[in-house]
Amino acid sequence: MKVCRTIAEVRERLEHVRKGTIGLVPTMGALHGGHLSLLEAARADNDTVVMSLFVNPAQFAESADLAGYPREEEHDLELARDAGVDVVFAPAVEEMYPPGFQTWVDVTELGSILEGRFRPGHFRGVATVVLKLFAIVRPDRTYFGQKDAQQAEVIRRLIHDLALDIELRVLPIVRDPDGLALSSRNALLSPEDRTRALALSRALSTGSANAARSALAASNGLVVDYVEVADFDPPVIAGAVRVGSTRLIDNVPLNAGSDSRSDKGDDT
Ligand code: AMP
Repeated sequence: MKVCRTIAEVRERLEHVRKGTIGLVPTMGALHGGHLSLLEAARADNDTVVMSLFVNPAQFAESADLAGYPREEEHDLELARDAGVDVVFAPAVEEMYPPGFQTWVDVTELGSILEGRFRPGHFRGVATVVLKLFAIVRPDRTYFGQKDAQQAEVIRRLIHDLALDIELRVLPIVRDPDGLALSSRNALLSPEDRTRALALSRALSTGSANAARSALAASNGLVVDYVEVADFDPPVIAGAVRVGSTRLIDNVPLNAGSDSRSDKGDDT
C-alpha cells in the first residue's frame, strides 16, 4: 500500500493502472466498520482501490468542531492496509487548498435543506473536495455510505449535473448491535452520552417522523436539530441531534407506500 501526500504522487502512482478499474473511497479517517464496508465493496469491484483520508476544513463551519475531530492516522493506515487498499491519499490542507484557492462547487437546493440549514456551507465544502478528489484520482466507481444520506444525494446530483463518468455506489448503514450508527464522532461520546444517543436510532426506526419527534422530545439530554422525511433515493426519515457537544446524524429508509410517507411536508 502506497501512502501519497501530494496530487502529483497519486497521479504518478495511478498512471500505470488505468487499464483496469479504479474505485475511490473518500473518508475523513478515524476508520470504523462503516468505512470498512465501503473499502470491502471497492476491493471486490475494482482492480485498484484508492482511499482518501482528509479532514476537509471547508465542510466545517465551526473551528472547534474541526479541531476536535478525531484523528488517528497510523491506526487508519493499518486498517486500510488490512482492507486491501492500494493507494491512500492523505494530503495536507495546503495541498488541497493552496493559497489563492477560490473555486467552489455548490449543489444549491439539495445543499441548503436539512443538514445544510444547520451547517451552512457544509455541502459546498463536501461537493468541492469530492469533485477535486474525482479530478485527481479519476475513479471508475466511488463509494459512499447511506449513513450520510443527504451527502450521497448531493454527490449523485453532482455526478449527474456535471456529467461525470463515475458510478456511485451507496452502501447500507453499519450499526453497533444496540442500533447506534457507527460514526467517527461516537469516539467523542462519554458512556452516558452514548446511552442517550441511542434514542436517535430508536426514534427514527419507528418509521414515522411524528412518532420520532415525540420520542426524542421525551428523551433527556438530547437537543434535536431536526427530524424530517427526506425525498431522497431511497426516501428516508433523517434526524440530527446534539448530545453534549457532539452532533450525531442518522436516518432510516422508508418503504414506499408505508404510513410514514404521509408525514412528508408536515415539518417545520
Ligand atoms: P466520513 O469519514 O465520516 O466522512 O465518512 C466516509 C464515508 O463513510 C462516507 O461516505 C460515510 O457516509 C461513510 N460512513 C460513515 N459512517 C458509516 C456507517 N455507519 N455505515 C456506512 N457508511 C458509513
